[in-house]
Amino acid sequence: MSYVSLRREIVLTAREMFNQGLVRGTWGNVSARLPDKPGLLITPSGMDYLTMTPEDIVLVEGDAVIGRWKPSTELPLHQAIYEKRPDVGAVVHTHSLYATAFAVAGRPIPVITEEMAQVVGGAVDTAPYAPCGSSALAEVAVRYLNRKQAVLLARHGLVGVGRDLKEAMLSCIIAEKTAQIAAIAHMMGGCSELGPDEIRELRDNYLYKYGQNKE
Ligand SMILES: [Zn+2]
Repeated sequence: MSYVSLRREIVLTAREMFNQGLVRGTWGNVSARLPDKPGLLITPSGMDYLTMTPEDIVLVEGDAVIGRWKPSTELPLHQAIYEKRPDVGAVVHTHSLYATAFAVAGRPIPVITEEMAQVVGGAVDTAPYAPCGSSALAEVAVRYLNRKQAVLLARHGLVGVGRDLKEAMLSCIIAEKTAQIAAIAHMMGGCSELGPDEIRELRDNYLYKYGQNKE
């Protein structure tokens, strides 16, 4: 079996998504770009995350689908993101509660916390409604994702991206957490957003200076 460690990481990410309550049942999906050639690995359609194994992950290279199961129905969405965003190495799609509430209300998740500016890099916009699994959905999602790390799908859910699976998962976690904070702060009288300069500075610091990376 090829790409064993990446398959394993996809299963662990999918399980974390389920255990954190970002999806219920078998909704949502996770993928990663292949490290050595065009193509991706993606979770199979409609399979229990807690019993999923690395062998169940589906390999997609061009039109070839390699594996024992059908890939996630949102495969076109994942493929469209990898095509338009060479910087993206992994995609996580959830139906988390508060983010989906913003997607239903058609309102962006605002940049009201430092971590939202750092990890997501701007407000999360809502792509107009298109049926799940359609190429129309893939097209609008990519357009509204733009250069950011997350996008909302109207009446549907959230997509987070990152350089790797950890980052894509973190984009989903922070977008969902910020949606929760925004909803609560709104009940307490409202919330003010960070400005474009502050967002840029926080994002740059996070990308290039945060953590243990030394020059
Ligand atoms: Zn979905």
